[in-house]
Amino acid sequence: MEALILIVEDEAPQAEMLRYNLEKEGFRTVLATTGEEAVQRTEVEVPDLVVVDWMLPERSGIDVCRQLRARPDTRDMPIIMLTARGEEGDRVLGLEAGADDYIIKPYSPREMVARVKALLRRVQNQVTAERYEYAGIVMDLVSHKVTRDGAPVHLGPTSFKLLEALMERPGRVYSRERLLNRVWGGDVFVEPRTVDVHVRRLRKALNDAGGPDLVRTVRGSGYALDAQKA
Ligand code: CA
Repeated sequence: MEALILIVEDEAPQAEMLRYNLEKEGFRTVLATTGEEAVQRTEVEVPDLVVVDWMLPERSGIDVCRQLRARPDTRDMPIIMLTARGEEGDRVLGLEAGADDYIIKPYSPREMVARVKALLRRVQNQVTAERYEYAGIVMDLVSHKVTRDGAPVHLGPTSFKLLEALMERPGRVYSRERLLNRVWGGDVFVEPRTVDVHVRRLRKALNDAGGPDLVRTVRGSGYALDAQKA
């Protein structure tokens, strides 16, 4: 599954130029023209990376950055800030607000794509966790053992991989396609419905020992692990 890039830019020609160049490189893109819309987009599906313009109507790119950094599911999401400003103080402000990288307009599309790729690589290399913990679930990736509130949870290999994908970023909504790709390696003979079957199995195994159901079903979108669900 290609990485999803959220572009937050109010000037249409700029946005289209970005979209064109990123899609040409095989990325999926989604566009938002205001900070408000950008935040809403991330609530539907957490992108793999955000390119956000500093100068937006109403809410600035800085505000968007801060807001995304304050949310657990988007806290570690890579963010590139775009700006026409080039002063050192602005650069520092952008980075302090949580941007990972900073590009000054006008920029070349080629430079932008290179920076996006570099940042994604950096983030992907960090995913070498040996253990995940979320809402009482502890997942040991080395010994392949899972507990919930201290009680063992018995999972088959597929359910284990499924949980691993969901635990990587709690709160993030994973589409069936994304989970298929991740757990079954994009096997073309596996139907999306299979994902539903395994999610049901995983949910049952997790809930066997009691406790609230942590698996959120997002109709038409997919699944997430979410302690906030109600
Ligand atoms: Ca702008």
